[in-house]
Amino acid sequence: MSEAPTTTARKICQAHENKRDRLMDIVLAVHKKFGHVSDEVMDEIASALCMPRVEVQSLVSFYAFFSQEPKGKVVIRLCNDVIDEMAGYDEVKQAFVAALGIDLGQTTPDGGVTLEATPCIGMCDQAPAAMVNEVIVTNLTPDKAREIVQALQSHGDPSRLVKELGDGNNAHDLVKAMVKNNIRKAGPVIFSPVNRGEAMRKSLGLSPKEVIRAVKTARLRGRGGAGFPTGMKWEFTRDAGGSPKYIACNADEGEPGTFKDRVLLTELPDRVFAGMTIAGYAVGAEHGILYLRGEYAYLRDFLEEVLSERRKDGLLGQGILGKEGFNFDIRIQLGAGAYVCGEETALLSSCEGLRGDPKTRPPFPAQKGYLGKPTVVNNVETLCAVTKIMEDGAGTYSHYGTEQSAGTKILSISGDCQKPGIYEVEFGISMREILEMVGATDTLAMQIGGPSGQMIDPSQFDRLLCFDDLATGGALVIFNKGRDLLKIAAAYLEFFIEESCGYCTPCRVGNVLLKERLDKVIDGNADTPDLEYLEGLGATVKTCSRCGLGQTSPNPILSTLKNFRSLYEARLREDKTGLLPTFDLAKAVAEGERITGRLSVHAHS
Ligand code: SF4
Repeated sequence: MSEAPTTTARKICQAHENKRDRLMDIVLAVHKKFGHVSDEVMDEIASALCMPRVEVQSLVSFYAFFSQEPKGKVVIRLCNDVIDEMAGYDEVKQAFVAALGIDLGQTTPDGGVTLEATPCIGMCDQAPAAMVNEVIVTNLTPDKAREIVQALQSHGDPSRLVKELGDGNNAHDLVKAMVKNNIRKAGPVIFSPVNRGEAMRKSLGLSPKEVIRAVKTARLRGRGGAGFPTGMKWEFTRDAGGSPKYIACNADEGEPGTFKDRVLLTELPDRVFAGMTIAGYAVGAEHGILYLRGEYAYLRDFLEEVLSERRKDGLLGQGILGKEGFNFDIRIQLGAGAYVCGEETALLSSCEGLRGDPKTRPPFPAQKGYLGKPTVVNNVETLCAVTKIMEDGAGTYSHYGTEQSAGTKILSISGDCQKPGIYEVEFGISMREILEMVGATDTLAMQIGGPSGQMIDPSQFDRLLCFDDLATGGALVIFNKGRDLLKIAAAYLEFFIEESCGYCTPCRVGNVLLKERLDKVIDGNADTPDLEYLEGLGATVKTCSRCGLGQTSPNPILSTLKNFRSLYEARLREDKTGLLPTFDLAKAVAEGERITGRLSVHAHS
């Protein structure tokens, strides 16, 4: 007789020492086992962890990959972001829908397969793509969709969908993914040959303050996009009162068009973990957390193996490399499909076993981070750069790039170009050089820094990639002259609406109002005052939102309004009716017509 779900749930809680701050891991384990978290299992978890049941339910309902209702044994999550739509998402979706006989959001009657859409799974360089449970399938076509359905109906095993393995560590026994790295340009810093252990040996030969000084001398700035000086962040954390201290690595890239961390984690995990360990030494931390986005769960076993090897080799654990008193270890915290967890305070909330709600800053994580203790949160690429700085010296590193932006930048480039993929370039490269490098012609616009960044027009293609001109976390998306930028802006806004945590009104409501008004423009029902409305409300949402999501979510509209205003103006309607220009009579009476069951003679005359 199989064990009752509540018994299994209790054992899972016990395996996590009934700790409330491991609620995320407990729910992940329960979900993996049963495919959902039922009411009775939530009760059991709440009882085992001595916490209100509503907090368990709150967490379960927050993350897109968790469900309270049973789903199919296999869940197909088809990526529906802008790049996937450009690459044939609609046709692939139709093929899945027809072959399975269900619509998006439904489960086949035999309980075998659930079909869903999901935003950005980090595969824009090989779109359309989908997750089948944790297995990634890429470069989908309608034929491949039908084959996937046939295969699942015959054996039900997602791992057997992978026929050909990808390059590099994608072919590793613990990964076995069809994902390709698409490293098009390996630069002199991040993708230079790894000299395992060297950076750590050199760091441990210095005092922690000297390590911080080296990172400052290298002029390293955070690679998440904001560009805060890394050495300064470390110094704040080191000097902050309170212990223990923590190092968190933000591997939750989730913005449509971003996929560089995927490749860094696949090919350079040692460099990432060495960077975390050096940060730990510098600030006096003994614990590190790698926050891995749920979409990259297929890398988890491989990364755990790398961590085990580092423990065996004395690069993690007690007395690292014989340095008495320096102890440091790393755990992996898996996410569950919430873009907002890429925001550092939301990420820490998630690591604490909570909903991924951002926190009000200040206090910043350097003062009050994970579990209220001083915490460094660094990006994957930043930590790779740290390792290289300590390996080669600050002077060698700062020799690359520009005065204000030292070093190199990893770009994930996708969209209308011949060679989408990963490029390591020196800061200071122009957009025009990038377009040439990736084989883009007939370009109408470049989205710099993902949807939260800015959409630039051809008159700006001589601008430079660097913190004092065009700063970016790394996502560059290219659109050619056949694309409808207003529809793209609307799709990006839809993404932010979906991903908003809902805490503050400007973000929760304002983005919906922005999207409605943008749709009005797209439908040809808008007038000049609607553009003013978009600008005014966009500025309000940016100013009044609590975290980076709301502070940047209007950017797709504001930057296209600024740089492509003629596209908006071309869609404004001509006023031939004599009615108030912003008043849509047909829309206003539609509800009344529905209730009365007859059409208005005035609205339709
Ligand atoms: Fe949540 Fe949006 Fe407010 Fe950020 S800005 S806290 S995502 S509602």
